[in-house]
Amino acid sequence: MTTLSLPTYADVEAAAQRIAGHANRTPVNTSRTLNDMLGAEVFFKCENFQRMGAFKFRGAFNALSKFTPEQRKGGVVAFSSGNHAQGIALSAKLLGMPATIVMPHDAPAAKIAATKGYGANVVVYDRYKEDREAIGRDLAEKHGMTLIPPYDHPDVLAGQGTAAKELFEEVGTLDALFTPLGGGGLLSGTALATRALAPQCQLYGVEPEAGNDGQQSLRSGSIVHIDTPKTIADGAQTQYLGNYTFGIIKRDVTDIVTASDAQLVQAMRFFAERMKMIVEPTGCLGLAAVTQMKEALKGKRVGVIISGGNVDIARFCELMAG
Ligand SMILES: *Cc1c(COP(=O)(O)O)cnc(C)c1O
Repeated sequence: MTTLSLPTYADVEAAAQRIAGHANRTPVNTSRTLNDMLGAEVFFKCENFQRMGAFKFRGAFNALSKFTPEQRKGGVVAFSSGNHAQGIALSAKLLGMPATIVMPHDAPAAKIAATKGYGANVVVYDRYKEDREAIGRDLAEKHGMTLIPPYDHPDVLAGQGTAAKELFEEVGTLDALFTPLGGGGLLSGTALATRALAPQCQLYGVEPEAGNDGQQSLRSGSIVHIDTPKTIADGAQTQYLGNYTFGIIKRDVTDIVTASDAQLVQAMRFFAERMKMIVEPTGCLGLAAVTQMKEALKGKRVGVIISGGNVDIARFCELMAG
């Protein structure tokens, strides 16, 4: 096995400087109702209020800011139907470079339109017949574009770590911190910030119950691959962790826990009713885990990263009505 050189907290600090003035310093919100219910003090870092509606803007902007003039000319390519696509498209627009996003032909029209709205060139592929990674690599080679993956990249994960950095700067140290987990960009970046700023803080990644590859990986000590899980948490439908992200997670994370779709809907309703926030299903993972771990968290200061708020309103209504 080759040893990777893992990014450090210094990379998170450098990312924070690059994104300053471009990314929102998102609010930290609290709920007295929830604190009373849990007997704990919970601080929500609200990345649903980040630009383009999710933390992905942080990593994307950081990665693109580091492009050489040569790379800027060729532009960036990414494959994603979700928040990474929009983060890359918006960052490329702000930095004045071309972006190509490879999306499945059956991606929601609203997502394709939003990505085009940021000025990106959208290439669609048939997800049942074609391999998006091969298409992305091909575009990169033929047109001199640089491929930026959604999580397993040092600049991407360092950028994602800036959310937790801001949280600790604002509220001080915490006893425990919970973050959603897909491919691990957010969790590994958060781990770098946590180990530097609140070394005693317990750090938990939260996955959908149907897709607990991260939990299996942490417990077995090597990356476990699974089929695409069926869950409403579409931002965490990844099949495996990355080499960089797992390297950090394995070293720095306390545990990985799971939440069911029913628990995510419950958390979504709480955010809407009590905190007047629209949070996408994946963004609800942290609160769903905290609710389950209520006994262990009594009297503690707890952080939760709300990762994003991009859910179709029709879909949101459907989930709330069910
Ligand atoms: C991408 C995403 C995640 C998962 O992030 P990883 O870095 O892949 O672990 C969680 N929530 C939202 C809203 C996302 O867009």
